[in-house]
Amino acid sequence: EITPLSAIEPHRICVCVRKRPLNKQELMKKEIDVVSVPGNGTLLVHEPKQKVDLTKYLDNQVFHFDYSFDDSATNELVYKFTAKPLVQSIFEGGVATCFAYGQTGSGKTHTMGGDFTGRQQNSSKGIYALAAQDVFAHLNHRKFANLDLSVYVTFFEIYNGKVYDLLNKKTKLRVLEDDRQQVQVVGLEEVYVSTTEEVIKILQTGSACRTSGQTSANANSSRSHAVLQIVLRRNDRATTLHGKFSLVDLAGNERGTDVNSYDRSTLVETAEINRSLLALKECIRSLGMNSDHIPFRMSTLTKVLRDSFIGEKSRTCMIAMVSPGMASCDYTMNTLRYADRPF
Ligand code: ADP
Ligand code: MG
Repeated sequence: EITPLSAIEPHRICVCVRKRPLNKQELMKKEIDVVSVPGNGTLLVHEPKQKVDLTKYLDNQVFHFDYSFDDSATNELVYKFTAKPLVQSIFEGGVATCFAYGQTGSGKTHTMGGDFTGRQQNSSKGIYALAAQDVFAHLNHRKFANLDLSVYVTFFEIYNGKVYDLLNKKTKLRVLEDDRQQVQVVGLEEVYVSTTEEVIKILQTGSACRTSGQTSANANSSRSHAVLQIVLRRNDRATTLHGKFSLVDLAGNERGTDVNSYDRSTLVETAEINRSLLALKECIRSLGMNSDHIPFRMSTLTKVLRDSFIGEKSRTCMIAMVSPGMASCDYTMNTLRYADRPF
C-alpha cells in the first residue's frame, strides 16, 4: 500500500548488493562460490571452503550496504527494497534514479528485466516491468487521482559518450546545456503509455537495436548504458513535468583485461566506460554530501541524468551485482569497492 515518502526511506541514497547464483557452466567447471551474504546488508568474500564466521574476516573482505541480497532473492524482493520506494517518490513530485552496476554477466540485465533476446523467459518480471506495474497502480489510486497525470517513457542508449534513441531507429541525439544549466537531449522520443504491456513492448523493440560490443566476455550490449525513463506529466496545456524515474542498466565495469583484442575502438570504449562510471560515483558522492557542486559535466551519462542529481526530492538507488565464482573474484572486489560507502 501507499505510505508517505518520508516513512519509506530515511536517506536519499540507497546502495545494495545482489549476488547471483552460480550458473550451469560454472557448476560444470566446478567453480567455487566465494561470496556469502550473512544478512543485514553484509556481504563477504572469502577463501574457498572457509567457514562463514564474520569475526574471523579481515575488514577488506567484509562489505556493508543498505541491503544485501543472496542468490535466493527474487527480482520481486529486490524490487521491493530498491526501486519500489522510488516509484512512490516520483508521484510526490520527485526525481529518482536506479542503477544496476557490475561486471558483465553479473546479473544487471536480469535484475532490470531488459533481456528481450528471447533467451530469458522471465525477462518481463524485472524491475522495469515491476516499476511500470506500480506506476499504473499509483496512477489509479485515489490519493493521486486529483493530480491528473499521464505516463510517458523514453528509452535510449549511451555508447562511447553518444546518445542513441532506441525508440527512434537508434537516431544519434545531441545533448545540449542551456545557460540555466538545464540539460536537454534534443529530439528524444517520449512515448505515451497507459499499460505495463505497452511499456514491455517498447522495451522489446528498443532492446532489439542495442549496441553489441566485440568483447569476448559478452557480445550482447555490455559496452553501453541503457536508460529507461518513466516520466509523469500533468495533463495541463504545457504538460508540465511532475516526476521522473530513470532506470539505468550500466555498461559492464570490467576494465578490459579480459578483452581479447586490444584494438583502438575497444580501448576507446573501455576508457569512456571507466570515465562515465567514475563520474557517476563522483556525482552520487556529492549528492550524498549535500554538496552544491555536482560534477555532472564529467560524462554524457551524468550530464543526461543531471536533473536526477539536483533538488530536494531526488532519490538514488544503486544495485551492485556480483558473480559468486572464484574466477570472478577480482571483478567482484572491484565492484564492491566501487559501491562501498562513503557515498
Ligand atoms: P549482465 O547484464 O550483468 O551482463 P545478465 O543479467 O545478462 O548479466 O546475467 C548473465 C546470466 O546470468 C544470464 O543468463 C542471467 O539470466 C543469469 N542470471 C543473472 N542473475 C541471475 C539471478 N539472480 N538468478 C538467476 N540467473 C541469473
Ligand atoms: Mg546486460
